[in-house]
Amino acid sequence: MQQYIIIGGGVVVVLGGLVLWFALKHHVKDKTAASTSKLANTLRNEKEKSNIILSAIQDGVVLIDDQQIIRHFNQGASDITGWSTQEAEGLDWRSVFKFTNTKGEEIPTEQTSIAKSFGSGQTVRDNSVNMLTKSNNTIAASFSVSPLVDNAKHPTGLVAVFRDVSEERAEQNQRAEFISTASHEMRTPVAAIEGYLSLALNEKVATIDDRARGYLEKAHSSTQHLGQLFQDLLTSAKAEDGRLTNHPSVVEMGAFVEQLTQDLRFSAEKKGLFMEFLFGNTAIKDASHPSEAGESKVIRPLYYVHVDPDRIREVITNIFDNACKYTAEGKVSLGLTGNEGVVQVYVRDTGAGIPPEDIPHLFQKFYRVDNSATRTIGGTGLGLFICRKIVELYQGRIWVESELNKGSTFYINLPRLSTQKAEQLMAAEAGAQGTVSAGQATTVSPSVSITPSS
Ligand code: ADP
Repeated sequence: MQQYIIIGGGVVVVLGGLVLWFALKHHVKDKTAASTSKLANTLRNEKEKSNIILSAIQDGVVLIDDQQIIRHFNQGASDITGWSTQEAEGLDWRSVFKFTNTKGEEIPTEQTSIAKSFGSGQTVRDNSVNMLTKSNNTIAASFSVSPLVDNAKHPTGLVAVFRDVSEERAEQNQRAEFISTASHEMRTPVAAIEGYLSLALNEKVATIDDRARGYLEKAHSSTQHLGQLFQDLLTSAKAEDGRLTNHPSVVEMGAFVEQLTQDLRFSAEKKGLFMEFLFGNTAIKDASHPSEAGESKVIRPLYYVHVDPDRIREVITNIFDNACKYTAEGKVSLGLTGNEGVVQVYVRDTGAGIPPEDIPHLFQKFYRVDNSATRTIGGTGLGLFICRKIVELYQGRIWVESELNKGSTFYINLPRLSTQKAEQLMAAEAGAQGTVSAGQATTVSPSVSITPSS
């Protein structure tokens, strides 16, 4: 958090200085001779001021123009990257900045925060990237890249502020490692306790009186909760350090979600909630429900994505279970829609809703809304964090829109594969099983036409 604030503050100061320096540099020509000397002084002062500020900042500050050329490279950037200011200024940023992922693989240019900011015209932050220094050492870095625009709102370049976070990252990894080992070790005895409690509660195996049964049932449910907590801790630690098992393959989401509906329906109906599956805006008929069987089938497009089906099932199930958990009565809908670039799954409920102030924190680790509606409902606060990590693994997005006391809708956007691409990948998967699939090298950027409202 502190890191964001420092970087955020840095960006404001730096942006102010740079914009002024940039603007003044480009508009002096038309001025009259009389005003030029005065302006020149101001200019010199402003430029000096900017230079003093920029060289005093220990974070790397880099100004890149709209031709992708580095125009300013401060001392902090030199110290971090090993490129001197003289070497870096005038070069294309792609020659200086090389990024790698947690596995050490080079990140394609278009997926870097700098390229994304150029492409979207938005500020892009990336706290989990690694970069290569001039001498090819890998350092953990945190980036904040903001676009610069002129008065007519045309892009003129961008400013990237970054810092070496190797120490913080190493500590974070140690913490995750500890949590992962501890929760792994603790799962085994907890599973044993749960097993013995189940045996004690089984009338065919043990005889206990009613009072003992009451106590044991409570102990059994607490043990289950503890087991879930350890499982979630283990998954979230793995998600954080990139060790989550992930075997992506081509999945047709229409068939996948429809099949999942059969299992999910059980959770909803167990609680007396009505459940529906919506394709686009149309409710899909479900042959497992006799009253609806035999009605005409809806013709629907094929929504291909490249994901690990087990992981995506985990996400949808988690969101759906939450919808049931936090809805006392009414309906839970599971929907699927999309456009050329995006496949969207959504889960809508008529439940308690989420206060607006809690929404920005909902996908953080251990965050739980604290109100009378949720206090009595058990949970770990890790489910949505894990969901976000999984969705981001596939360059997707997850977000929520909610109205208090009316209900919530959780959206999951995944990059859509064209049918042609999906068929190519399926053929490659079939032909090259066990080797690196061609699909793993293929990334489709999500289109932004189905976007979060916030
Ligand atoms: P938990 O184990 O507490 O359910 P999650 O990470 O899955 O953890 O959810 C975080 C918090 O988000 C929950 O504690 C709850 O307050 C809120 N929440 C999640 N889904 C819903 C929903 N459908 N309706 C209302 N609140 C929700």
